[in-house]
Amino acid sequence: MAVNLSKIKIILQTLRDRYPVVKTQLEHETPFQLLIATILSAQCTDNQVNKVSKTLFLAYPDPKALALAPLNRIKKIIYSTGFYNNKAKNIKACAQVLMNEYEGIVPDEMDKLVKLPGVGRKTANVVLSAVFCHKTIVVDTHVLRISNRLGLTDKKDPVKVEYELMEIIPEKHWNDLSLQLIYFGREICDAKKPLCPECPLLKICPSGKKSR
Ligand code: SF4
Repeated sequence: MAVNLSKIKIILQTLRDRYPVVKTQLEHETPFQLLIATILSAQCTDNQVNKVSKTLFLAYPDPKALALAPLNRIKKIIYSTGFYNNKAKNIKACAQVLMNEYEGIVPDEMDKLVKLPGVGRKTANVVLSAVFCHKTIVVDTHVLRISNRLGLTDKKDPVKVEYELMEIIPEKHWNDLSLQLIYFGREICDAKKPLCPECPLLKICPSGKKSR
């Protein structure tokens, strides 16, 4: 999909001005903890994950401990993040695979990360960018929604959107842009009630103009 270069520049500049410093909101002390926190963040707020992960990582701070943890105990701790049955099975299995195949070390390759239980492309991209400083675009629900609203893509599939954004956004902006769009989605371009009248991107946003 063809996107005007000056429009991209305005979006990048506006987001950079508004959010000059961005980083993942998921609290963690190690790559492993970020990996687990990101798995837990599916369909859950970062705040809620942080509350839960504090207890989880106190009890099971590394792959070795989590691999041996009783499943029911994990379920109890992470219950409030939703989908706790699957998440508990996945994070325990993920820790076991890390121990059995990677000596407890989180791999820094997409192909290996997405083979870990509970890890999809989005989670892998979060870890690759935040921990290993790879250039990636994380397409979560905010990035997907706002990219469509701004007319940067017309695709609904996150992987297709990721590739389309990589085509039109200069690589040096990838990591920050993902986080800036997440911040922006929480603050302004809400899923249900976007604050279009006060949005700094209103002039170049097809969806915002339609809503006027
Ligand atoms: Fe979102 Fe509205 Fe801003 Fe467009 S104008 S980016 S729809 S808040």
